[in-house]
Amino acid sequence: MQIEIIEMEETRCKFLLKDASPADANALRRTLISDIPKMAIDHVEFHLGPIMDNEKEYESVTPLFDEQVAHRLGLVPIPTDLELMNFREECVCGGEGCPNCIVMYSLNKIGPCTVYSGDLIPLGNDSFRIRDTLIPIVDLNEGQAVLIYATAEMGTAKRHVKWQVTNGVGYNYLPTVEIDYDLCDYGMTCVKSCPRKVFDIVDGKPIVARILDCSICKTCAEDCDQNAITVTADPHNLLFSFETDGSLSAATTLKTALEILEEKFKKFEEMVSSLEN
Ligand SMILES: [Zn+2]
Repeated sequence: MQIEIIEMEETRCKFLLKDASPADANALRRTLISDIPKMAIDHVEFHLGPIMDNEKEYESVTPLFDEQVAHRLGLVPIPTDLELMNFREECVCGGEGCPNCIVMYSLNKIGPCTVYSGDLIPLGNDSFRIRDTLIPIVDLNEGQAVLIYATAEMGTAKRHVKWQVTNGVGYNYLPTVEIDYDLCDYGMTCVKSCPRKVFDIVDGKPIVARILDCSICKTCAEDCDQNAITVTADPHNLLFSFETDGSLSAATTLKTALEILEEKFKKFEEMVSSLEN
């Protein structure tokens, strides 16, 4: 199994999985969805009672239930450093919470205003400052205010979807489009009918110019009266793509997924060989 990167952006990745099977691709897909650890807010404390600001008194209340505000905060992508952070239950602090396993945020706003994800201020290390700053959390009315302390910790999507790093994880077989020029009438039907504009005309001949854009819809083959086009899909070479929520980069996510898979296969191999013995 080999990986050839086609596109690698900060939060988006497209690659070719070569000499693999659909089972390999699916194992990678499931690992990307549910096994990559990341930080997410898991504990929210709301200040109760009046909040004073410039000698004006505000009521600590929002138009939403506290549970809804806490749920929204949980879904805010928290920048994650996998080298630095541990799972709380595996940390040297014994799960009490320390700079190696939790990050605390404060949120202090008075209405009328919209509270955004960017209003979460990390207490301590500034590298945990929220990158997606414009996710709306709640609208405060006149006289309303919030004072919140939130704690983020590591987890995986097996526990809750707020710890899911990736979205839009999918793959399809690598398409092949062959043109039989002995049958072709050079009417360029395929060039006109392809919705993904896969074909170009070179020296009066239709050629396949952008095979990676092909969605295997077979419109070109169906519209060709000469039956000159054959569209097939290769189950051993797969086009894979996914995005991240920004808590981890696409490159780190892919690298981590491959490491986790390798570890799992190693364990599986050990278990099988122990059975043989
Ligand atoms: Zn700790």
